[in-house]
Amino acid sequence: MSQKLQPARGTKDLFGEDYRKIEQVLTIAQNLATCYGYEPITTPIFESTAVFKRPLGETSDVVGKEMYTFTDRGGEEVTLRPEGTAGVVRAVISNGMTQNMPLKLSYFGPMFRYERPQQGRYRQFHQMGVECFGINHPLVDAETIALGYEIIKSLGLENRIEVQINTIGDIPSRQAFRQALVDYFTPLKNQLSEDSQSRLSRNPLRILDSKDAKDQEIVKEAPRFEDYLNDDSVRFFEQVCRGLEALNIPYKINRHLVRGLDYYTHTAFEFVTTDLGAQGTVLAGGRYDGLVQQMGGPETAGVGWALGADRLALMLQAPENQVKPVALIPLGETENVAFTTGVQLRNLGFVVDFLYNGNMGKRMKRANKVTAVAAIIIGEEELQTGQVIVKNMESGSQELVKLSGLAEYLTLHFPNTRIKVG
Ligand code: ATP
Ligand code: MG
Repeated sequence: MSQKLQPARGTKDLFGEDYRKIEQVLTIAQNLATCYGYEPITTPIFESTAVFKRPLGETSDVVGKEMYTFTDRGGEEVTLRPEGTAGVVRAVISNGMTQNMPLKLSYFGPMFRYERPQQGRYRQFHQMGVECFGINHPLVDAETIALGYEIIKSLGLENRIEVQINTIGDIPSRQAFRQALVDYFTPLKNQLSEDSQSRLSRNPLRILDSKDAKDQEIVKEAPRFEDYLNDDSVRFFEQVCRGLEALNIPYKINRHLVRGLDYYTHTAFEFVTTDLGAQGTVLAGGRYDGLVQQMGGPETAGVGWALGADRLALMLQAPENQVKPVALIPLGETENVAFTTGVQLRNLGFVVDFLYNGNMGKRMKRANKVTAVAAIIIGEEELQTGQVIVKNMESGSQELVKLSGLAEYLTLHFPNTRIKVG
């Protein structure tokens, strides 16, 4: 007996309502991103491991324990992309787009991380993200956050999320703060979790982000970033905040918010909900002015974010299909006419559910099940005079309609059965 095949752990099939929810997130996000001036890009799902390793940082959770890395048949070390930014930056550099600044790119697609699967946390998940390159201005950070907020609003979720922001300062501020953290944590080293002990020498900022309860106690008394920010960093952050206020975007400053990846400077932000348990972050991003240069390009400002489409989908009601089908029902010896009529209607963009057989009751039941708004009943008698019956499924009323004028009739009376196909 063959074994029953299942999707791999942490992955799932997307169809029906789940698919439509993700599609709704995406459609809204992509349309709004277009309004904000972003052009779409897709980059390969796998890249040379080096694309992710250095930019994300050897000590990050992603590089340390979550990457799907393997050696391919040619001996090349490749990694399934765990996030979008590094691949987009690689593409910007490989394609010489650094000559075309400023540049605004948006992407969507599956990402892969080896994580412990649970609600809202999968091994294959979907992100939509935006990256804005080449503008070093705090209002761009505010604009980018505004785009995220507008997407959340369009999804009707603005009352269920909180916008949290912080600054992690420019590089000199970060260095001063880093030293202060090392001085504070070093005498307490033995009390820190194992993860945080290794972070201490490599990236002490990450200790602030620790989810470990005991670490969090120690973090409470740690030096505060705001005491180490230089004037430039303070001013930059203030302008970001003023920009958000000008747009009436409610936000909260969260001084412990440090992004998990290595390449951030200045602004960091997360959109957080309490609806999804520990998987509460639905959108996250920040400014990453050092990244393009670190990856071998010219010095280039950058700011962007990624949203977790699966997590947002978990917060949504399934949207109804906007386009409704018409049911096509041949009676008696009219199947051939029905067949060609159905295909012609489909080619014109009508959504047609062809009900080949079964008794009338069964076929009507099916028509209702697929939410058909009209049934086209093709009977032998009517067909002799070139006519068919069109039944309004909602009111139950029916009309005789000339077969040659069927498309016009449906367009006029049932416009929601037609989509644009060219
Ligand atoms: P978390 O703290 O939940 O692990 P993260 O900081 O690793 O998130 P990012 O790298 O910032 O996440 O990715 C941006 C967004 O992508 C997250 O806010 C989240 O909505 C989504 N995301 C990240 N990892 C997963 C996953 N394994 N499954 C589903 N969504 C995810
Ligand atoms: Mg994570």
